[in-house]
Amino acid sequence: MRARAILDFLFPPQCAGCNALGSGLCSACTPSNGPIRVRFPALRVTALAPYEGTLRAAVLALKDGRRDVAEALGAIVAPLVERDSALVPIPTTARRKRERGFDGVAAIALVAARAAGAHAIRALEQRAGDAQRGRSRRQRLAAHGRFCCDATLVAGRRVTLVDDVCTTGATLQDCAAAVRESGGLVEEALVVAVALHEAGSRAPATKSARPWKEAMFG
Ligand SMILES: [Zn+2]
Repeated sequence: MRARAILDFLFPPQCAGCNALGSGLCSACTPSNGPIRVRFPALRVTALAPYEGTLRAAVLALKDGRRDVAEALGAIVAPLVERDSALVPIPTTARRKRERGFDGVAAIALVAARAAGAHAIRALEQRAGDAQRGRSRRQRLAAHGRFCCDATLVAGRRVTLVDDVCTTGATLQDCAAAVRESGGLVEEALVVAVALHEAGSRAPATKSARPWKEAMFG
């Protein structure tokens, strides 16, 4: 905690939207008109708001490795997390994690889980890089698309996926499939922002894969 206090002194949290000091995303820049829901086949996605404006700035800052923004976003999504639920963050690649010094989505899941009395479980990994090294744990991993899942962490468990942005939903669908192949249950995903236009226009050609904006709810 002491190292953290020194870090905060040297690099005070600063709003990704308006540069005000104090938080990675200040309350004035936090979308206030309630979360939105997008539905994909077998997966409901809840997002704080559309991927635009200050929320888009926050996600881009997160991708740049801004820890203060990850912590702010984790606190902002926490009220959408059910107590005792299990959050599984969508992992970044090992290379990006090295470049940025941390995994932003995992940080959001950790902060949100801690605040909501839930659990963050890092059960998913990208198959490239570390996942190919053949350690004993890897042999138990069920793979789907670019992702693999540790069955020992999710089997028989209901989990909620967590990501920063949902565009076509393909990544979330791959991760949901990997969790299901590992014996886990997943019907929900929680994301910071959803690119509604991109989700509509860039979705796979099959009609069933096209998401639709369900409702605004407060
Ligand atoms: Zn702000």
